[in-house]
Amino acid sequence: MHPLSPLRPGSSASLSSLRSVLKHASRQYAPLRASPITGFQQPSISSPAARLYCSSNKPPNSSAASFQSNDCSLPSTQRTHTMDHQEVIKYLQQSHDRIFENNKKWAEQKQKSDPEYFARLASGQTPEYLWIGCSDSRIPAEQITGLEPGETFVHRNIANLVVNTDLNVMSVINYAVRHLSVKHIVVCGHYGCGGVKAAMTPKDLGLLNPWLRNIRDVYRLHEDELDAITDENKRYDRLVELNVLEQCRNIIKTAAVQQSFAKNEFPVVHGWVFNFHDGLLKDLEIDFEEMLHKIQKIYNLTE
Ligand SMILES: [Zn+2]
Repeated sequence: MHPLSPLRPGSSASLSSLRSVLKHASRQYAPLRASPITGFQQPSISSPAARLYCSSNKPPNSSAASFQSNDCSLPSTQRTHTMDHQEVIKYLQQSHDRIFENNKKWAEQKQKSDPEYFARLASGQTPEYLWIGCSDSRIPAEQITGLEPGETFVHRNIANLVVNTDLNVMSVINYAVRHLSVKHIVVCGHYGCGGVKAAMTPKDLGLLNPWLRNIRDVYRLHEDELDAITDENKRYDRLVELNVLEQCRNIIKTAAVQQSFAKNEFPVVHGWVFNFHDGLLKDLEIDFEEMLHKIQKIYNLTE
């Protein structure tokens, strides 16, 4: 069997891994399978709203939406709670209102600590960085880098891909380079990326197939290196890194980046990987100029 995937059908280990991956993938990428109402199995248990309902102990109602919690800190009788219509309405209202309450507090705090803050924001943006990251909710660009609003231009998608035919990311890069004159472009992947894991799974994932194909292509490009890694988790981590490197290459292939660098000596492209276990960014330390030089043998767009 071709070793594209580390999950080889036939072994019990591979089957349990496959189940786990599919469970994860369907949770992350198939929200439409559940309605927004019945999809209450989906919210993170760590969210305050989820906890609110998780810990409520109302009697089940036959006409209600169901909410299940895996929060082991709760007694088993409270882990499953069925919400009636009114509770669902209340839940949605609260999770909606929470954002506006937070926003109001944030705006008041900013205004208080710096009366000119919003006047400066309104006057325009001159971000130093373009951040291309994964849509994963656990990696907020500004929070993990300590950057303030106005300092980074952000684009996020599943598995931080830079696809040549994706008008969205190509427009972002073009605008950031040609109009905002960003000095650095960062592709930030992360270990434990569900998109990368899904791409390692030999399975038809429907609408996601063409998107994940880009990651499968990264695997194919680095097949020898990846197949030589026997530890499945290490191979997964390495594919995350290689995916970041290939997306850096894709950025360097653009006319905007090549022409700006030839003229201004910026932007410089960086590949980073975020680690959930310690919260730290790893710099893959790509040699930008060497990568640019190699790419321009075939993809030179500066002439
Ligand atoms: Zn991800």
